[in-house]
Amino acid sequence: MNRLPYTRPTIQRLQAGPVNPFRLGSSPSCVEIDGVPVADLAREHGSPLFVFSEKTLREKYREAHRAFSRRYPDVQFAWSYKTNYLNAICRVFHQEGSIAEVVSGFEYEKARGNGVEGAKIIFNGPHKERADLERAVNEGAMIQVDNIDELLALAALVRERPEPVPIALRVHLQTGAHAVWSKFGFNGDDGEVLQVMRRLATLPNLRLQGLHCHVGTFILDPENYRVAARQLVALAIEAEKIGAGPIRYLNLGGGFASHARLHYQYLPPEQTTPSIDRYAEAICETILSHWPAGRDLPRLYLETGRALVDDAGYLISTVVAVKKRSAPTQVQTALAAYGKAGVAAVPHGHSRHALVLDAGINLLYTTAWYQPKILPARPCLDTPEPTTVFGCLCMNIDVIREDAPLPSLTTGDQVVLHPVGAYNITQSMQFITYRPAVVMIDSERNVHVIRRRENLEYVQELEAVPGHLSANAPGPKPQFFAVA
Ligand SMILES: *Cc1c(COP(=O)(O)O)cnc(C)c1O
Repeated sequence: MNRLPYTRPTIQRLQAGPVNPFRLGSSPSCVEIDGVPVADLAREHGSPLFVFSEKTLREKYREAHRAFSRRYPDVQFAWSYKTNYLNAICRVFHQEGSIAEVVSGFEYEKARGNGVEGAKIIFNGPHKERADLERAVNEGAMIQVDNIDELLALAALVRERPEPVPIALRVHLQTGAHAVWSKFGFNGDDGEVLQVMRRLATLPNLRLQGLHCHVGTFILDPENYRVAARQLVALAIEAEKIGAGPIRYLNLGGGFASHARLHYQYLPPEQTTPSIDRYAEAICETILSHWPAGRDLPRLYLETGRALVDDAGYLISTVVAVKKRSAPTQVQTALAAYGKAGVAAVPHGHSRHALVLDAGINLLYTTAWYQPKILPARPCLDTPEPTTVFGCLCMNIDVIREDAPLPSLTTGDQVVLHPVGAYNITQSMQFITYRPAVVMIDSERNVHVIRRRENLEYVQELEAVPGHLSANAPGPKPQFFAVA
């Protein structure tokens, strides 16, 4: 009879979650994505590699849209471009019926390039350049005004127009979420937005038709949306009294949480992330019960971002070195710097497992807030132990996770990071290494490259070398090999 391999006993921090006694002594792994082996993906397209599941994108969209449209008669989703504006991703959502939500002239152009007509673009953002506003007006885009300067610039821009241009106002509200995002829009609690509406009522070429509030991002309590929806309805009623209405749409923005895990979040996301139904219920119920009887219900816009795309994105990466780590972790060092009691006794000399991956935090900007799951791409029998996962950048801050539970891995092993579909691509930067390819697996398991790996030519495309520094310029040559 074969004896089971010996595994070293370890003590682990209790991880709440489904208890499965049959999994003791093995680690969770991610061997394939949508039926395609991770090893094949890496062999074919290189490592690191971003992978998107088209199936998950569509499922997430449909689930969310169903949650809202089941509860409210007139719902329209707008894909938040900045959350992930790879064209293939945007087009999946547009195919599903989403219009576009953009926050700059660049994103506006991208949306137009993806075949979205102006009238189906919601134009947000605290800085819209004059030329972009002009284009948006000409193409009938849904402009959501952020500030008074923008409102006046817009009024000047449309002065000669025969028909009033419809616009919306963005407001920020106290919903209990966190610090109010008062950078954006007008204060909807202290009367500021009412003043703006009065001003607007005197501007003949602008007509208020919508109110917008994007409470914030990764909002874990749906009650915040109940508060926001109630206040937007109240403001819509006020708008009409002031003579600035009628309000034809309410836009509740995005911010619904994905299954990412915040730093220092004790419970797993499966237990902390509300279902999309709970957000939909909070918003739809509130509008339906507070909207004045007898008036046409406003259209409801949602600018869904991370909740639709985060879980669909993976990063495949390869272990390039295995280390022991003897120094205190960054968190411990930071606490020690603040003189926290007991921290001086940080286990100096106490070594722990550490790995270096071939991807760095320049690709994983969101690791500043979230801890992606890191799973080996092969089944592993030994028990996971807390492991520091370093990135490949020559920078001390390049730590992907301080404390990932991982079995012992060796150089060349692949791991899969998940969920990483929201914001990482749009916020990633080329730094030290080339940014990797991005592929999408379609519902027939075909793998499509949706962004090629960068190369030297691409990275240097916009550079110029002044003539006096060119290779055949007269004067001193580089002295690389000067010998004493
Ligand atoms: C970023 C953004 C969104 C999307 O937010 P998520 O948190 O990704 O859902 C929606 N609306 C506006 C105005 C935004 O700036």
